[in-house]
Amino acid sequence: MIALIENGANPAVAPAPLERLKQTVSASRLNCWLQCRLKFYFRYVLKLAKPKTAALHFGSVVHLVLQHWNLTRWRRQPFEIEKLKSVFATGWLEQEGVIDWEGEEAEQKNIAWLVLEKYFTETPIKANEMPEAVEVPVEADLAAHGLPMLIGILDLVRAGGRIVDFKTAGKTPDPEMALHQNGVQLDCYSVLYREATGKREAGRELHHLIKTKSPKLVITPTGPMTDGQQSRLFRLMENYVAGLEREDFVPAPGFGCLGCEFMAECRSWHGGRSHAP
Ligand code: SF4
Repeated sequence: MIALIENGANPAVAPAPLERLKQTVSASRLNCWLQCRLKFYFRYVLKLAKPKTAALHFGSVVHLVLQHWNLTRWRRQPFEIEKLKSVFATGWLEQEGVIDWEGEEAEQKNIAWLVLEKYFTETPIKANEMPEAVEVPVEADLAAHGLPMLIGILDLVRAGGRIVDFKTAGKTPDPEMALHQNGVQLDCYSVLYREATGKREAGRELHHLIKTKSPKLVITPTGPMTDGQQSRLFRLMENYVAGLEREDFVPAPGFGCLGCEFMAECRSWHGGRSHAP
């Protein structure tokens, strides 16, 4: 069984940008790198602070409540909806900076709780199912592959070694597309799980909580990481390392720009390397 760490400490946070970034990689950093290297540069090298978005706060609070629910089962405590409601209410109030809700905070808060209620009603995880791990920070030394240390946090590993990743989304995902879009994250979790336990995971599951006015729960299961998926992940990491060495921070304009918090900085970037635009 993986050791339980309850504070959810994130080992990725560190102040020395480029050298530190070359030493470690995480799923979120790798995904950002693959989406847009200039965005990566603004977020992880320059560490430009931006206010939390409404969608990010929504997802964080839902995640917080699910974490408490998982820990409750871990401690073999009874399911008490009122306690979870209290965690939700407190978490919702703890907003970092000023969030632009566009007048919809009350509605979004209501939907967030309805989404959670839907999850607790329809989840395939039984109240007496003991998790194998909850919110565990894990590292995998990939030096033998010429790669940096992989770091990350396993949200939940179900009994028998099924890795779960919780997502909130605005619409019902297509299963193939969901697995494709979340492949890097799932494969990173598999590498971390194998490193921590010496075992192969039994499978991976995406639990999508759909935040529509009539919320839905969509479970997308998939098997253990294949050798081909691991090779693909390691090639992406090689690209990450080589790109950092070259300081290859170029923009990738596309659909991802719609939700990018660095639009203003991007528009005033004129090709500089390693320096603020
Ligand atoms: S606006 Fe688009 S191209 Fe510019 S940094 Fe953001 S994601 Fe990259």
